Amino acid sequence: MDDTNSPGRRETFTKAPSVPFDPTATPPTPVRAAFPGEQPPPGLRVEDLGPADGAQPNIRPAVLGEPFDDPFVSGSVRCIACAHRCVLRPGRIGICGVRQNRGGSLYTLVYGQVVASRAEPIEKKPFFHFLPGSTAYSVATQGCNFHCAYCQNWEISQAHRERVVPESRFVLPETAVSEAVRAGVRSVAYTYVEPTVFIEYALDTMARAHAAGLRNVFVTNGYESPEALDLLGPLLDAANVDLKAANDGFYRRVCGAQWEPVRDTLVAIKERGIWLELTTLIVPGLNDDRGELRAMAEWIAAAVGPETPWHLTRFQPAYRLPGLEPTPAATLVEAAAIAREVGLRHVYVGNAPEAECAVTLCADCGARLIDRADFAVTEWRLVRGRCPRCNRSLAGVGLEAAPAAV
Ligand code: SF4
Repeated sequence: MDDTNSPGRRETFTKAPSVPFDPTATPPTPVRAAFPGEQPPPGLRVEDLGPADGAQPNIRPAVLGEPFDDPFVSGSVRCIACAHRCVLRPGRIGICGVRQNRGGSLYTLVYGQVVASRAEPIEKKPFFHFLPGSTAYSVATQGCNFHCAYCQNWEISQAHRERVVPESRFVLPETAVSEAVRAGVRSVAYTYVEPTVFIEYALDTMARAHAAGLRNVFVTNGYESPEALDLLGPLLDAANVDLKAANDGFYRRVCGAQWEPVRDTLVAIKERGIWLELTTLIVPGLNDDRGELRAMAEWIAAAVGPETPWHLTRFQPAYRLPGLEPTPAATLVEAAAIAREVGLRHVYVGNAPEAECAVTLCADCGARLIDRADFAVTEWRLVRGRCPRCNRSLAGVGLEAAPAAV
């Protein structure tokens, strides 16, 4: 278990712990890094790969794969775990880099192959209205169905594209839950990369987490298919969806995805009664247009409700955008003001302590209810989940009593 970030690197929301990788490792194919057992043995073509034989515990039959009637190639399958709905000919791997057609069936390549795990404040995911002041046990494998140009976890999310081989360890779901229980957390967070791409491992861990009395939270890009949400819904207690923009152009240009499925997932999460928070990383010149921010806030208020917490976070130069300046605090503060003007009740600014926007206020009278500093709750003024001044209840989960540490 790694519980440190790289030296000199500031802790930020959703940043994975430092993941060692060998920059000199040469992947066995010219186009991508490989998983143990992914490649065919000498003398066989990738098209001839059969089902895994159990020698590699990370390679397992996947859920949400269906036969695809390809008029040119027999044995094709379609993965319906996310909105990409990749059609995979025999041997091929999906956009996420971790789901493969082997012998005409869909397999996950990363079951239990954990690249990052640690206990951390749930405020760091970020969740501000779900079990505030508690810790969550974060787990992730490699792979992602987006390839955002500014990804701060690209060493694990884009490993397959960047020919990086991150260190990993095999962790059974029951072991992950035991580690979580030993760490004294109240929830397990599936995070750092898009967890839908390791849905089999997530589902098995989520069931065991619930049995152990822990909650499950997803930090997700919202690209789950409705079928995936049907599987996840009964086990999922909260989701923080990374709302990158509210227009299709941004999703296509910067993330290699589309806006419409994200929009539908947000509404579906809300309708299922799963606690929802939103995060938007504001990138200078890409999604900081004031008119667009206003339109986003209006969409949030209308579609998922004005009491949905919205975290506006600072961009730090990363991955393919190393030359851009970090988001000025003034931009974040202005964006938060626009959102409040539109009617959103709980707007926060993240990764910019100088902006001082990490306080939860009463949605009616504006009284200070929860103060935070450095991902910790420092003051708790709620009385049984209600404002002590006007008795208005605060939207959220686990707000009845102050966390033990406060
Ligand atoms: S989870 Fe991966 S393989 Fe499946 S549809 Fe999404 S990108 Fe494609």
